[in-house]
Amino acid sequence: MSARIIDGKAIAEGFRKSYAASVARLRERGVVPSLAVVIVGDNPASKVYVRNKALACEKVGMHSQVHALPADTTQRHLLDFVRRLNADPAVHGILVQLPLPKQLDPRAVIEAVAPHKDVDGFHYRNAGALLVGGPAFYPCTPCGVMKMLEHEGVEVEGKHAVVVGRSTIVGKPMALLLLAAGATVTICHSKTRDLGAMTRQGDILVVAVGKARMIDASMIKPGAIVIDVGVNRLPDGKLAGDVDFEGASRVASMITPVPGGVGPMTIAMLLGNTLKAAELAAASASAATA
Ligand code: NDP
Repeated sequence: MSARIIDGKAIAEGFRKSYAASVARLRERGVVPSLAVVIVGDNPASKVYVRNKALACEKVGMHSQVHALPADTTQRHLLDFVRRLNADPAVHGILVQLPLPKQLDPRAVIEAVAPHKDVDGFHYRNAGALLVGGPAFYPCTPCGVMKMLEHEGVEVEGKHAVVVGRSTIVGKPMALLLLAAGATVTICHSKTRDLGAMTRQGDILVVAVGKARMIDASMIKPGAIVIDVGVNRLPDGKLAGDVDFEGASRVASMITPVPGGVGPMTIAMLLGNTLKAAELAAASASAATA
């Protein structure tokens, strides 16, 4: 079997086009969707992510502002900074790039972001809404995976989905979204015994660990749909996912590449959440003046 490659880049491009049209309509009403990205310190990977997010905003006609704070920023200063962005009506979405330098408490910073501007979907309010199925900003990466599956015509209902990784930003929300879509979900993590026995049960296998090529062909159910979230830098500088792409492609029916799979979808969903935040802000502003 040779798996069909799910082209995240092309799917994300389709989303971007539709967002650009919505942004243009908002701009006609005098509203320019705007994302504020806060980066603290000099983490090179974070700098690249932030630049890519800002560029993506500009490409669809949104405004982006990048606030680079020094590595020795204090918790108090960062919280004040975030609160100022909360109070700024021209800012619709706020994203604090993680990881933060070690003197800063990421949870406290995330909680400081106003829930209606939390376009990463990490605030307790949004995480709770995801749990109970309410309206919310959902985390971009799992949301992007669901949109990819939908785009590829994958029927999630009734499938056994296995998620490897239980982080609050990928694994857990991924499992909740799959569950909400009617899958039977197994979540694996570093304490899981006999990982292969678990992953081989997955009709849909989502891997979000951060260990290059840890899932090989023998761990994949023949015909499975494999979504590789992992991004790992190899010693030669190239990027690799958590799945051994070559081997897995011979067993799976569909597979995402790294790069060009989940990554572009994550950024597209960030744009979607920022657009939604701007639309909600515009609607409540017009309701207030009506
Ligand atoms: P975390 O480090 O927060 O979580 C990793 C998870 O993997 C943990 O739940 C951990 O288990 C689990 N794990 C570690 N080792 C094993 C193992 N041997 N077997 C099974 N599970 C294991 O990472 P993130 O969730 O933030 O990110 C995961 C990967 O996805 C990274 O490569 C990251 O770069 C990438 N990523 C990609 C994005 C994209 O847009 N493409 C966006 C976000 C992340 P435990 O909880 O027990 O420690």
